[in-house]
Amino acid sequence: MSEQLWRKNLINITPYVAGEQPKSDGIIKLNANENAYPPSPKVREILDRAKPEDMRRYPSADAGPLREALAKRAGLSVDNVFVSNGSDDVLATAFRAFFNSDKPIVYPDITYSFYPVWCDLLKIPSRTVPVNEDFRIDAKSLYGEGNGGVVFANPNAPTSLAESREFVKDVLEHNKDCIVIVDQTYVDFADDGIDSLDLIKEYDNLLITHTFSKSRSMAGMRIGEAYGNAELIKYMLAVKDSYNSYPVNRLSIETGVASVQDEEYFQSTLRKVITTRENVSRQLKELGFDVPKSQTNFLFAKHPKYAAKDIFEFLREKGIYIRYFNKPRIDDRLRITIGTDDEMAQMISQIKAFMGK
Ligand SMILES: *Cc1c(COP(=O)(O)O)cnc(C)c1O
Repeated sequence: MSEQLWRKNLINITPYVAGEQPKSDGIIKLNANENAYPPSPKVREILDRAKPEDMRRYPSADAGPLREALAKRAGLSVDNVFVSNGSDDVLATAFRAFFNSDKPIVYPDITYSFYPVWCDLLKIPSRTVPVNEDFRIDAKSLYGEGNGGVVFANPNAPTSLAESREFVKDVLEHNKDCIVIVDQTYVDFADDGIDSLDLIKEYDNLLITHTFSKSRSMAGMRIGEAYGNAELIKYMLAVKDSYNSYPVNRLSIETGVASVQDEEYFQSTLRKVITTRENVSRQLKELGFDVPKSQTNFLFAKHPKYAAKDIFEFLREKGIYIRYFNKPRIDDRLRITIGTDDEMAQMISQIKAFMGK
C-alpha cells in the first residue's frame, strides 16, 4: 500500500499573484493600484487618539457603525450594506452565498484574476467570455438562461476601461434568474454615467462591491463593502457569521467611518489622481504608446516597438515597479498605477532613457 495516498486529497489550486511588495526604501511603487496620497487627516486623528486598552474588546460583529456611515452616504438603509475585510473577502463571501448552482458562473476572460481563483477554491463551475480586440465587454456575451451567476469589474481591471450604466442594465435585463455581481472597485475614478449603485433598487439580483483600498487610500486597513437588496445582504451576513472569527477590526471600523465622513478630502484626492492620470496618459502617447482612455487610477499601455517585458524589467532595475502580466492577450501591455506627479515624472524620464531619448 502506498503511504502517499493522502496527497491525492490535497487542495489543487493556482493562487492569485499580487503585485510585488518590495521592502527597500526609495523605490517607486506603481504596481498594486494603491493610492498615491494618504487617507483623510480625520483617519490620522483616530489613530492618534486610539487607546490600547480598547483593543482588549472584540469589535462590533457586523461593523455596524461603518455600515451605517456607508448607508447614509449612499442614501440607503443599513440593511443594504455589507462590510468585510477588503473587497476580496466581500467577493469571496458573495461567491459562497450566491454561486451554488450547477450552472457555470460567467466572467470576461480579461478581468480581475481573483475570480477564477475563488471558483477553483470553492469548486464553482465557471465559463469565460472573451472581451473584444479593444478589450470591451460584449453585453450579449453575458446574456444567458444557462448562467449560474455573472461577475465583472466595472471599470474593468487590468484594462482600465468602463462600460456604461446602460450596459449594466442590459446585462441585468438578460440575467433575471441569477445573481449579477458588479465589482466597482475603481468607480470613483470614472466619468459620470458608470456608477450603477442606484440599480440595486430596481434589480433585486444585483450586488455592487467596492473597497477602501484604492480610492480611499486604505489598502492596509482591509475594508471592503457590498450594496444590495436587504435579502442578499442578509445571506451574506449569514455566511460571514458562519466563520465568525473574522469581523472587521476596531481600528478599521473607526478609521473607515472617519474616511467616509470626509467627503471633501475624498473628492480632492480623486481630482488629483485624475489630473495626473490625464497628464501621464498624454505624455505616454507622445512617446508612441497606445493608451486606452482610463476610468481608473492606472493606465494599460502598449508600445508598438518595444516589448512590455523589457520596459518592465528596465524600470525595475531603476527601482520603479509597475505591473507586467505574462498572460495571453495582455503580455504586450503594462499596467501602471498613477502615483504622485513627481513619481510619474521619474517614471517617464526612465522610459525615455530606455528608448534612448
Ligand atoms: C484591488 C481590487 C480588489 C480588491 O480590493 P481589496 O478591497 O483590497 O481586497 C477587488 N477587485 C478589483 C477589480 C481590484 O482591482
